[in-house]
Amino acid sequence: MLQGTPILVLKEGTERERGKGATSNNIAAARAVADAVRSTLGPRGMDKMLVDSMGDITITNDGVTILKEVDVEHPAAKMIVEVAKTQDQQCGDGTTTAVVLAGELLKRSESLLEQNVHPTVIVRGFQQAVQEAQRLLETEIGTPVKPDDEAVLLDCATTAMGSKGVFGSRDELAKIAVQAVQKISEKRGDRIVADVDQIKVGKRHGGTISDTELIAGIILDKERGHPRMPTEVAGAKIALLNSSLEIKKTEIESKINIKNPSQIQNFLDEEDKTFRKMVETIKASGANVVVSQKGIDDVVLHYLAKEGIYAVKQVKESDLQKLARATGAKIVTGYKDLTPSDLGTAAKVDERKVGDDDMTFVTGCSNPRSVSILIRGGTEHVTQEVERSLNDALKVVSSVLEDGVVCPGGGATEIDLAVKLRKWAPSVGGREQLAVEAFAQALEVVPWALSENGGYDSINTLIELRRGHDGAGANKNVGVNLADGKATDMWKLHVVEPLRVKRQALSSAAEVAAMVLRIDDVIASKKSAPPTPGAGGHDH
Ligand code: ADP
Ligand code: MG
Repeated sequence: MLQGTPILVLKEGTERERGKGATSNNIAAARAVADAVRSTLGPRGMDKMLVDSMGDITITNDGVTILKEVDVEHPAAKMIVEVAKTQDQQCGDGTTTAVVLAGELLKRSESLLEQNVHPTVIVRGFQQAVQEAQRLLETEIGTPVKPDDEAVLLDCATTAMGSKGVFGSRDELAKIAVQAVQKISEKRGDRIVADVDQIKVGKRHGGTISDTELIAGIILDKERGHPRMPTEVAGAKIALLNSSLEIKKTEIESKINIKNPSQIQNFLDEEDKTFRKMVETIKASGANVVVSQKGIDDVVLHYLAKEGIYAVKQVKESDLQKLARATGAKIVTGYKDLTPSDLGTAAKVDERKVGDDDMTFVTGCSNPRSVSILIRGGTEHVTQEVERSLNDALKVVSSVLEDGVVCPGGGATEIDLAVKLRKWAPSVGGREQLAVEAFAQALEVVPWALSENGGYDSINTLIELRRGHDGAGANKNVGVNLADGKATDMWKLHVVEPLRVKRQALSSAAEVAAMVLRIDDVIASKKSAPPTPGAGGHDH
C-alpha cells in the first residue's frame, strides 16, 4: 500500500494549479489582455505607443499589432493573442472586436461560475449561441451586395480604415484598395475569387500619403543590371526566366590541360560565344526587357546593354510569378526555349528613384491579374500605419466580393444579435439558456465600447440601441453614431462591414473563451534559469 507516501509524478519545481483557482486565474489574465485593447476600438479609439526591447516604437490602433508587439507571458493571455492573429489572417479586420468579445464572454462566464453553472454547460451554451448567431447573420442581419456595387465596396474599405491613423487620406486609400482588388478578382464558376496576395504592397517613406499610388503592374525593388542599359523602355516586351544567364561552374573541380596559349584563347572564346548566344536568342525572341530569378553574368549584362535591352536579375520567385500574371508572360526555364509567345507586355518599364532606392516599375499592363501599390508617407511610422490600414481594407474588400454579404457596423450587428438571441434563449432551455443569455449580453460590449471611446454615456447609448432594435419600428441597422452618440441607421452613415469579419470574430471569440473555460488544471514546468550575464555567447 502507498500509505501516504507522496508519489512524485511531476518534476521538482513544477507549478500546479487546479480547479476553480486555475479557471479564475486564466480568466483574469485573458480579460486583462482584452481590457488593454478595448480603448482602441472604433474610429474614436485611442492609439497605443509600443516600445520594444530595442527601443523601437510603433504607434498604432491595430489590435493585432498591439498584441503581437507586447510580450505576453501568461498562457491564457497568449491564447487571446492567438485569436487576434487568426482573425487577422482570416479577415484582416475585426481583431480588436474578437479580443474584446472574448474578454467579455469570459467576464460573463465568471458570474455564471459563481452561480455554480458548470464550465462545460457554459461552453455548450456558447456553442449553441454562436450557431444561432451565424444563422441570424446570414439570414436576417446581412445584406446581399452585388460585386459591381462600388459604393458599398468603398464604404467597407473606409469603415475598415476608419480607426486607423490615416484619417485624412481615408477616401483616397479606400479607392486604391477597391480598384486594386477589383483588378485582381476573377470569376471561377459562379464564385468570385479575390486573392489579395496578388497585390504587391510596397512602401517607401518620403512624400505624403496622397502620393500613394496603384500601379497596373509590378514594382520590383531592384535596379537595372547595367548602367548602360536604357532607364526606360516603352512598349516593353518582357521575358521572364527562372534560370540563370551564366555559365555553370562545374560542381566537381575540373582541370583543363592547356598546352599552348592559343588554347586559353579558345577556351575564353568559347565562353564568350555562349554569352553572345544567350543575348542573341533573347533578342531574336523580340524581348526588350529580361527579368531573371537567378543571376546574370556581367558579360551578358554588358551585351544586353549594348542591344538596348533592360535586364533585372535575382528577382524573388513570388515577384516573377506576379510579373507573369501582370504582363501575361510565361516563365521560361531555359533561355533557349524562349519564343515570342512567351513574352509579356507592358506600356513601360523604367527605373525610378523612390526615396533612396532605385526601383524598376513595370507599368501600364493592359489586363493585369496582379497589381502593386506603392505607399508613400512622411515618415516610416506613417507608411507602416498606412500599410496596416491598407492591408485591412484590401482583405475587407476581397471578402465582400467573395461572400457578397455586408453587415451594419457601429455595433448595430452586435446589438441586433443580442436582442434576437435573448428572445431565442428560452427555446434552448436548461442551464445552457443562462449561457446563451450571457453570450447575448457579452455582444453588447461592442456598441458599449464604441460609445465610451467616443466620449458618450454608454449606458444611454445601449438603452437607445436596444429600443431601436426591438418592438414596433425596429431597425436592424441602427448603431452608434459617433458624431452625437445617438442611435442611427448605419447604412445611412456608410458604416458597413463584411459578414466574414463579424462571423469570424464571433466564432473565434467563443472558441477561445471555451478553451479557457475548459482548463481546470495548469501544470507549468519550472522555467529554465535565465542566462547569467556574461556567460552568454554574444555579448562582447
Ligand atoms: P477592429 O480591430 O475590431 O476592426 P476597430 O478599431 O477597427 O477594431 O473598430 C471596429 C469597430 O468600429 C467596428 O465595430 C465598426 O463597425 C466600428 N466603426 C467603424 N467606423 C465607425 C463609424 N464611423 N461610426 C461608428 N462605428 C464605427
Ligand atoms: Mg478595424
